[in-house]
Amino acid sequence: MSPPKKRRPAAPVPVHGEPVQGEPEPVALLVAGGTVLTLDAADTIVPDGAIAIRKEKIIAVGPRRELERRYRARRRLEARDRLILPGLVNAHTHAAMTLFRGVSDDQELLTWLEKYMFPLEARFVSPDFVRWGTRLACWEMIASGTTTFADGYFFTAEVARVADEAGLRAVPGQGVFDVPTPDAKDSAAGLKRCEALLREWQGHPRITPALCPHSCYTVAPETFPRIQALAARYHARVMIHAAESQGEMKMMRERYGTTPVRHLARLGALGPNLTAAHCVWVDDEEIRLLAEHGVGVAHCAESNMKLGSGAAPLAKMLAAGVAVGLGTDGPASNNDLDMFGEMATVAKLHKVASLDPTRAPAAEVLRLATRGAAAALHLEKEIGSLEPGKRADLIVVETSSPNALPLYHPYSYLVYSARADAVETVVVDGKVLMERRRMLTLDTEAIRRHAERYRKKIAAAFPN
Ligand SMILES: [Zn+2]
Repeated sequence: MSPPKKRRPAAPVPVHGEPVQGEPEPVALLVAGGTVLTLDAADTIVPDGAIAIRKEKIIAVGPRRELERRYRARRRLEARDRLILPGLVNAHTHAAMTLFRGVSDDQELLTWLEKYMFPLEARFVSPDFVRWGTRLACWEMIASGTTTFADGYFFTAEVARVADEAGLRAVPGQGVFDVPTPDAKDSAAGLKRCEALLREWQGHPRITPALCPHSCYTVAPETFPRIQALAARYHARVMIHAAESQGEMKMMRERYGTTPVRHLARLGALGPNLTAAHCVWVDDEEIRLLAEHGVGVAHCAESNMKLGSGAAPLAKMLAAGVAVGLGTDGPASNNDLDMFGEMATVAKLHKVASLDPTRAPAAEVLRLATRGAAAALHLEKEIGSLEPGKRADLIVVETSSPNALPLYHPYSYLVYSARADAVETVVVDGKVLMERRRMLTLDTEAIRRHAERYRKKIAAAFPN
């Protein structure tokens, strides 16, 4: 076995934050005593560190003793013998699809969509479905250390409301299709819903409303300029699926004589407000286009594996400077929302796909699940690392379970051997959402009941 990498700085770590002033300053929250993995640009790790939080922001990160001297905290979260790191960011999912988890597995993408998912959605998706499905997802995400998720679905006002109530950070994208969907008869109706969502949630500190044209094969070329005009008017983000499977590539070739990324480029739809999920089948020129236009990419390895879609050219995209982050995709094609599982898969997939075990090392993969995903969603100024001025989104992870021992390096543990239930405490915007595994913002018993109600309904209609 190779010796552990030395990452801990030998010299005392300077305190990043406000200067010292006589009396201790009051702060709302001090998370103290653990090893702080800041995931900042220098990859700073602070042993026996602390984070001081005022309102929704981090005001200082540094050695515990120093911060204890400088700040008088109204509340303290003890993190001794634990890791403190940025909350994980899921750059692409469809949260409400938790209620379709396991209903149809082992299919190719287009068959899965056309034969199973679209008919199921037409029949069952309603505001109530989205409300309970998203609540279930929020429970699962908080319990597994995700603090931000980007979502594309229907009745998106419900997604925004539920995420807000749960205390999570979210980028809810209203689905736009040219064919009828559960909440719109065409793209014009979908765009109306987009505008209502943007009006209602614009400027919210945690909820960033967005548009989600499903893909180049479900949204007509003439619809894209309308999507972009609306996005420009509200300075909104746009999310889309692109270059996911060979079936999609074939359909695009037959219909438009080109590839999805080139098609989007021709439509003028590539830009720094766009996040494209998948990008499995992109060539060097398309990767260059994505990088040049500042398009973020959500890499959804487990979903791509489960649907047999392929392995995205992660190393090439990163080398070209594309902002790549990890996403789980919807829980019907994964089948969970566990970013720890996703990290482990990503780290191994790219090794086996390239027959090169140096690919996707743990440090890189952890970055993709935190600051990388934040950048892919164009939220890197607010979240993705633990630094003064950023939003206080963090998780505390235990390190005393057998699979954590002995702990040579935290990145290796987090990516290769930690399980999601090692997450003990979750803080978003300075507010504690889970403490020592106790959910503080969700009625989990009610969620369980409603998940069962939907299971009965859906199973009766689609017996296996
Ligand atoms: Zn998706």
